[in-house]
Amino acid sequence: MREHDVVIAGGGPTGLMLAGELALGGIDVAVVERRAGADLIGSRAGGLHARTMEVLDQRGIGDRFVAEGTRHPAVLFHSHLVPLDITDFPTRRNFTLGLFQSHIERILCEWVDELAVPVYRARDVTGFAQDDASVDVELSDGRIRAQYLVGCDGGRSIVRKAAGIEFAGWDPTRSWLIAEAEMSGEPQWGFRQDDTGTYAIGKVDDTKRVRVVLTERQLGTEREPTLRDVSETLAAAYGSDFGIHDPVWISRFTDMTRQAVSYRKQRVLLAGDAAHVHPPMGGQGLNIGVQDAVNLGWKLAQVVKLTSPDSLLDSYLAERHPVAARVLRNTMAHVALNRTDARSKALSEVVSELLRMDEPRRRFVAMMSGLDLHYDLGDGHPLLGRRMPDLDLVTADGPLQVFALLYQARPVLLNFGEPSSIDIAGWTDRVELLDAEYSGTWELPALGPVPAPAAVLIRPDGYVAWVGDRTRTGLTEALTKWFGAPSA
Ligand SMILES: Cc1cc2nc3c(=O)[nH]c(=O)nc-3n(C[C@H](O)[C@H](O)[C@H](O)COP(=O)(O)OP(=O)(O)OC[C@H]3O[C@@H](n4cnc5c(N)ncnc54)[C@H](O)[C@@H]3O)c2cc1C
Repeated sequence: MREHDVVIAGGGPTGLMLAGELALGGIDVAVVERRAGADLIGSRAGGLHARTMEVLDQRGIGDRFVAEGTRHPAVLFHSHLVPLDITDFPTRRNFTLGLFQSHIERILCEWVDELAVPVYRARDVTGFAQDDASVDVELSDGRIRAQYLVGCDGGRSIVRKAAGIEFAGWDPTRSWLIAEAEMSGEPQWGFRQDDTGTYAIGKVDDTKRVRVVLTERQLGTEREPTLRDVSETLAAAYGSDFGIHDPVWISRFTDMTRQAVSYRKQRVLLAGDAAHVHPPMGGQGLNIGVQDAVNLGWKLAQVVKLTSPDSLLDSYLAERHPVAARVLRNTMAHVALNRTDARSKALSEVVSELLRMDEPRRRFVAMMSGLDLHYDLGDGHPLLGRRMPDLDLVTADGPLQVFALLYQARPVLLNFGEPSSIDIAGWTDRVELLDAEYSGTWELPALGPVPAPAAVLIRPDGYVAWVGDRTRTGLTEALTKWFGAPSA
């Protein structure tokens, strides 16, 4: 039987990102993907938020995405009504990137290919059996053995179901048709609202195609939608179907909102849509899936290499479950705010007024962009558990941006105090120690300026695991907790 350290079920954005992270961690990883080719039919997600671009920058690949996308200076919280300005945020990526999922997946596929990860296409993961030492992954055409299996196989995850992990949450109350097709007439571009809900018609890249998103009058879940459904819904909303024809993709999404109660069953883990589903308002699903992968990748790599105990994986659930729970909550609020009855409209106007004020704007931009993420790593300096900013450092070898130190997904200890004053003997095989200077302001999104630290320990995912003063209190504990016991 073929064997790998880790098998990933599903080569969507989450599975591809995780594959790259594990490969950088020196792990023998393979992806099993149902689709025969890398092409994605239909555009699905429309872009990347600032923190996702930053995590891609941490691997040196952010520019590949930015070069192909369109920069928008705002984040959308309350649908299209209130674009929230992000340009004054302290990040190099102070914009939202418009880029369809098909392009995002293509670029991720190219990266994973460069890292020589095998992707077994045109076959399904159909189940698994596990014991204390390994997982036998059942495929539609055979079996593979692995130490760990990660289900990145989307909202209908076979892996989650086979693991018997409860997917708790709320059934759908509304549904939307989404389609890409051609139109012989000139449609009404942009957004429109009526008593049923919201509608949108836009162009797809540089093609002749249009993309429509239409609220359905009745909750539709029974059968796959057809061109006739789209045509009738258009006609009911606009008085015309604008001669819609030649669809390349017709689908439906709902406001079903669910989250796996656990992201792990022994040697089987979940990430991305397999672990959480919610309506696409605010464009967050792909983004948090990619960030799940970046949180899990280095931890799983260390556990497989026996650098860290298996219990390190507990921090994956502890850190990422609350992040998705918060997204579930804000998308449920989005759906409520998008209702078009008189009372919901009044609520929507009040919320819009609030969001135009500066403090709420900064808070909501920080939340939607993922820049305010704070893992609970205990009390201390405000940087602890937050993203390390991409500072312009001065080092003995010249200027350097912090994110460039993370390209290989290895931890870094930056010493801003007396050069050579920190000793990490026992971890030098795993942690890069660098003396650096930084003379600018330390500013965090939504929080503002924070005191300059004497040293920071940065995890491979870019989050600060320890902040030092002159005493170095807690450094040994932090190194051991996150990067394993010292070598002899
Ligand atoms: C209309 C719409 C708009 C959206 N807009 C946005 C947006 O703007 N921003 C955003 O962040 N998110 C958006 N999303 C959500 C986003 O598309 C998903 O969150 C994202 O695709 C999740 O990625 P994933 O890799 O976890 O899962 P998926 O993309 O679902 O990938 C799962 C992969 O697993 C494969 N697979 C499934 N089952 C098996 C199996 N048994 N064996 C092998 N392979 C399998 C599938 O073929 C697929 O490639 C949108 C979604 C929709 C529907």
